[in-house]
Amino acid sequence: MREFDTITIGAGGGAYPAAFRLARAGHKVAMVDVKGVLSGNCLAEGCVPSKAVREVAATYHRMTRAAAMGLSGALEVSYEQVLAHKTRVQTLRYQQHDLELAASSEQLQLIKGRASLLDPHTVEVHTDGAARRLTAATIIVASGSDISIPPIPGADLCITSRDLFALDATLKDLPRRLVIVGAGYIGLEVASMLHTFGVSVEVLEMTDQILPGMDPRFAQLLASLLDPGIVIRLGARVARIDRSAAGLVVSYSTTDGPATSTADQVLLAVGRHPVLPDGLSEAGITVASGRPLVNPALQTNLPHVYATGDVNGLSMLFHSAVRQSLTASTSILNGNHASDSFDPDAVPTTIFTMPEAAYVGLLPARAAAAGVPLVESAYSFTEDSRAQIMDDTGGEIRLFFAPQSLRLLGGWVVGIDAANLIGEIGTSVAAGLTAHQLARFSDQHPMASEGIGKSARQLV
Ligand code: ADP
Repeated sequence: MREFDTITIGAGGGAYPAAFRLARAGHKVAMVDVKGVLSGNCLAEGCVPSKAVREVAATYHRMTRAAAMGLSGALEVSYEQVLAHKTRVQTLRYQQHDLELAASSEQLQLIKGRASLLDPHTVEVHTDGAARRLTAATIIVASGSDISIPPIPGADLCITSRDLFALDATLKDLPRRLVIVGAGYIGLEVASMLHTFGVSVEVLEMTDQILPGMDPRFAQLLASLLDPGIVIRLGARVARIDRSAAGLVVSYSTTDGPATSTADQVLLAVGRHPVLPDGLSEAGITVASGRPLVNPALQTNLPHVYATGDVNGLSMLFHSAVRQSLTASTSILNGNHASDSFDPDAVPTTIFTMPEAAYVGLLPARAAAAGVPLVESAYSFTEDSRAQIMDDTGGEIRLFFAPQSLRLLGGWVVGIDAANLIGEIGTSVAAGLTAHQLARFSDQHPMASEGIGKSARQLV
C-alpha cells in the first residue's frame, strides 16, 4: 500500500493547483518543497515582488508625466519605501497561503525538504539532515527553474533579480549606474523600472534584437517605444567583469571591436534554466536538453509521472504552470489516462516594461517559418480615446487571423493596458473566435479594449 496518492516535488504554480484539486477530490496528497511554503519562486523572488516594484515605478512615471504637464509639483521616490511595499505584498500573500493550507482538507500536507526520486514511485525527502521515504501512486515533478549564471569571469561580482526582489532583498539602495547583461523580459523590466527611478541604465544584449526568441516585429515595436534614455547595445557579447576604483568594468565585444562600460552594479539577466530533482533519469524518466520530455497531457514517458511548470521548459510563466498543473490533475483523476491537454498558444506573455507589451498565440515570424498564412489588422493607440486621456498614445493592438475563416490565431498589444488587453485576445484565441464575432462584441468605451473590436471590423 502506497502512503500517498500523489506527491508533488515543489509547491509552486506547477504543483499546488493540482494538489488542492486532488485533495478536494479525496486523494491523499503531499507537496514537498525546499522552501516549506506555497507559491514557489513567483512569490519568493519573481512575478509578484517584481510587479510590486514595477507598479510603483509606473505610478511614479505617470505622475512625472503629469508634473511635466504642469498638473503637479516634482516628486521624490524613497526606494526604501518601495522595497517595504514589495515586502508587504509578499508577506500578505504568504499569510493568505498559510490560511489556505490550514483550511485545506486533512488529505493535503506540505512537507519542507529537498526531494529526490529513488524509483518511479518513491521520493526521498531530506529535511535538516534527516531523510524519509514517501511512496505515491502518482508523482508531479514541478521543481521549477533557477536563474542562469553565464560562465564568465567576474560573474560573482554581479547581482541577479533575486537581489532585487527576494523577500529580504540584498540591494537596499539604488545604484547610480547599472549595466544589465541580457535584454530578455527580466532585463528589460528591471531596466524600465529602475531607469524610471533615476538610475542610469545600459543594457548589453548578445543577439541582434531585444527579447531574443520573440517575434522580431513585436520586439522592434517595443524597442521603439522604450525610453530612449535607456541605452541598449545589441550584438554586445560580455566577456568579463572586473572591479576597479571607478566601479565594475564590464568588458564586451561588438562587431566594431572590444568595448567597456563602467557601473556601480551589474545585473545578470541571461535567462532561467529548469531545475531537476536528483534521481529523475535514474528512475527511468526521459530527460532531453535538461528537461523532462512530456506529452500534451504533461505526462513523462512514465504515465504516472508528470512534469509541470518551468521544469519542462514549455513556457516559463506562473499562469502557464497553473494551467499545466490543472491539466495534469484531470488525467490523474482519470487514472492517468491522458484526458486534458496543455496548449502553449493559449498562454499570454507580458513584458512589464514602460510601456508594457504582451502577446498570445501565433505571431508572424513563427507563422512564416511554419508556412502558415495570416491576415492581420491593426489599431493604433494614436486613435484611442483612453490613450489620449492617459496622454500615452504610443503603440498598437495587432491581430492575426486565418485568411479564410478569419479565426483569430494570435495578437499583440504594445502600449497602454497591454497586460489586461491580452487576456481578452487570449480568451478569444482559446475559444476559436473569428473576426466576425469580435466585430460584434461591444467593447467598452472609452477603454483601450475598443481597439480589439475596431481592429476586427477592418476585416469584416
Ligand atoms: P513552477 O511555477 O514551475 O511551479 P516555481 O519555481 O514557482 O516553479 O516552484 C518550484 C518550487 O520547487 C520552488 O519553490 C523550489 O524551491 C522547489 N524545488 C525545486 N527543486 C526541489 C526539490 N528537489 N525538492 C523540493 N522542492 C524543490
